[in-house]
Amino acid sequence: MQDRLVYLDHAATTPMRPSAVEAMLPFLTERFANPSGSHRFARDARRAVDEARDRVADAIGCRPGEVVFTGCATEADNAAIVGAVRRRGGRPVCPAVEHHAVLHAVERLGGAVVPVDDAGRVQLDALAAALHGEVAVVSVMAVNNEVGTITDLGPVADVVRDRAPGALLHTDAVQAACWLDLRDVWRHVDLLSLSAHKFGGPKGVGVLAVRDGVAVEPLMVGGGQERDRRSGTHNVAGIVALAEALAATDAERTTENGRIATLRDRLVSGLVAGVPGLRETVAPAAKVAGSAHVLVEGIESESLLYLLDEAGICASAASACASGAMDPSHVLAAMGIDRAWAAGALRLTLGRTTTVADVDAAVDATSGAVRTLRERTAARA
Ligand code: PLP
Repeated sequence: MQDRLVYLDHAATTPMRPSAVEAMLPFLTERFANPSGSHRFARDARRAVDEARDRVADAIGCRPGEVVFTGCATEADNAAIVGAVRRRGGRPVCPAVEHHAVLHAVERLGGAVVPVDDAGRVQLDALAAALHGEVAVVSVMAVNNEVGTITDLGPVADVVRDRAPGALLHTDAVQAACWLDLRDVWRHVDLLSLSAHKFGGPKGVGVLAVRDGVAVEPLMVGGGQERDRRSGTHNVAGIVALAEALAATDAERTTENGRIATLRDRLVSGLVAGVPGLRETVAPAAKVAGSAHVLVEGIESESLLYLLDEAGICASAASACASGAMDPSHVLAAMGIDRAWAAGALRLTLGRTTTVADVDAAVDATSGAVRTLRERTAARA
């Protein structure tokens, strides 16, 4: 077991930015008031939430009144899809590679699941065929959490406006926040979900941006917070930290994209050179800088991850899920990747804290682990 941990699982969660930790601490200690109250102490907390809302709106390019704070992105995704269907009637539609927070909501509501191409982008002709006047909401992720593919939402929005003009367009932008200017994402959609812990904020706080004039039925009813769109006492500390993390991410995005793309290319070329029978799942031009997803022939991800863990490398196969079970990835299956190749998936995701030393350690450990696994298989044969 290694002393030094190499964290290459930034798509699962990110380390908090020190400035976000610092921003939230006063609201966990002396400034603990409930912002819905009427005394000065409550007004102080309310001001903090309002300032956070302004900062988030600035990073998304929306109006402050369009920002609804939620408990996580799973809630934001559910609120968009379930809320749209409850308010408008009709069915939801999404591509087959969505995060389960979207996919399961769509499936439970009897919606349509649309095929994707071999990079994981929704097939526009299949999307068009699934759209009609009874569609309440279409949900298409901006960036895939497993393979990192970016979807250009402009053409998607054109198809939706053309075929189902009454439908809302939602995007799960959780994996986009670090890499894409959210203003370019927001301008195409009516609803957009974010999660603070994917960009250096705390876990347990998210955003659903809801375009002015768009109404979705709230999932949570109660005290009427967030202008009746999401009841529940505000997580003031979390909201303040989310805003700080998003503002910092927005400010550093261009520089970080360049730095991380260089590291990712070094990682992938090191893996391709060091591991025979390894291929990159999606070409770099089609995906975000932080994503390195590869397939290793004749290897089981579970065994590879075990050896990588022993070597101090934190990686994953598909997305993190509560059961920890290694089910075949629904994303790779939808992309048409052969089950035998999909079984050897390795997702290494880079972020703000990733260094050259991390990348080089991951290349060495992966080459060594694959060699060990192949030797074991050969010895058993
Ligand atoms: N959507 C995507 C694309 C994700 O990657 C995740 C997290 O894994 C979620 C939604 C869920 O986010 P949260 O952890 O805030 O519920």
